[in-house]
Amino acid sequence: MRILVTGGAGFIGSHLIDRLMNEGHDVLCLDNFYTGHKRNVLQWLDNPYFELIRHDITEEIRLEVDQIYHLACPASPVHYQYNPVKTIKTNVMGTLNMLGLAKRVKARILLASTSEVYGDPEVHPQSEEYRGNVNPIGIRSCYDEGKRVAETLCFDYHRQNNVDIRVARIFNTYGPRMLENDGRVVSNFVAQALRGEALTVYGDGSQTRSFCYVADLVDGLIRLMNGGHMGPVNLGNPGEYTILELAQMIQHKINPEAEIQFKSLPQDDPKRRRPDISRAQEWLGWEPKVPVQEGLDKMIADFRSRLVPESFASHGASDHGAADGTPRIPTTVS
Ligand code: NAD
Ligand code: UDP
Repeated sequence: MRILVTGGAGFIGSHLIDRLMNEGHDVLCLDNFYTGHKRNVLQWLDNPYFELIRHDITEEIRLEVDQIYHLACPASPVHYQYNPVKTIKTNVMGTLNMLGLAKRVKARILLASTSEVYGDPEVHPQSEEYRGNVNPIGIRSCYDEGKRVAETLCFDYHRQNNVDIRVARIFNTYGPRMLENDGRVVSNFVAQALRGEALTVYGDGSQTRSFCYVADLVDGLIRLMNGGHMGPVNLGNPGEYTILELAQMIQHKINPEAEIQFKSLPQDDPKRRRPDISRAQEWLGWEPKVPVQEGLDKMIADFRSRLVPESFASHGASDHGAADGTPRIPTTVS
């Protein structure tokens, strides 16, 4: 099949592309390189069945494809809050453009939605029936509400224009190729511990998250795309940890001497999050397989190799970042 992956040069998108290329598909990777990098798809650049398109999805594009994995959108709070209006445009205008494309060429489209549509949930764990507790005017709203509108657009295009949709609600995912400075918790802690810096726990660290290894997530996305249910379907690992527990786990693995530093909790930070994956189990025969301890080891090995100073020069600077892969935007939360 000819498959378009928007946001294909990003963290999840590039792992998805690896799977699709290895399965023998024709893959088009579309990205504006805001948080994605060519180096994530470097291994495919010379392959005739792979095409890299620099494009911003807020602008229309005409392509001929059979399937669309629509992932383009910054996912780290630091990145999506840097230019919130752009984040909304990406989610709304970008998703409109991709749905328009799907409609025109009769392609099936999968939206990478998020557990953030549940906001700061009052129901635990979260099943797909839960309608969420989202602040419409807070600093996370550009992303939460943006994704909620993106889901609405998918279902309206389905009802009104018969577009073949799939909607995945992705919970916190981690693994190799995350940006070392992208501001998300697992990448922050691993990079901090490897650099000998203090691990920054926001608040008292009692808030929880559930962490899914990227290979498991990609498997779930592919099953959803090729199965018979449009969703929404939660994809995540139900193993739930407090942020302090996560910090201690990473501290223990990398540097037991590393300090833990408590910082202020960002506004609207969800207190508890854990997916109910009954629907994914029943509809897709899917559940995560990689235990967090094993996934963390793989991610730490990747970060260790990237954080060796000499390797920065050989990887080169990114389009939007410094030579060490740091995006040219602030990466601290005050
Ligand atoms: P990422 O930031 O690594 O990847 C996003 C990609 O989209 C990047 O390559 C970026 O350059 C590209 N992009 C952003 N805006 C664009 C635009 N306007 N036009 C074209 N390309 C654009 O993030 P990720 O973790 O790989 O997340 C991928 C998708 O999965 C996102 O839609 C995100 O909302 C969703 N998601 C991720 C997680 C997670 O834990 N990683 C959780 C829930 C949902
Ligand atoms: N967090 C933290 N230290 C960090 C980065 C994040 O304690 O250096 C916390 C953050 O406040 C949140 C949790 O970790 O409670 C997950 O944050 P992340 O940005 O990874 O994802 P999200 O909040 O979108 O789930």
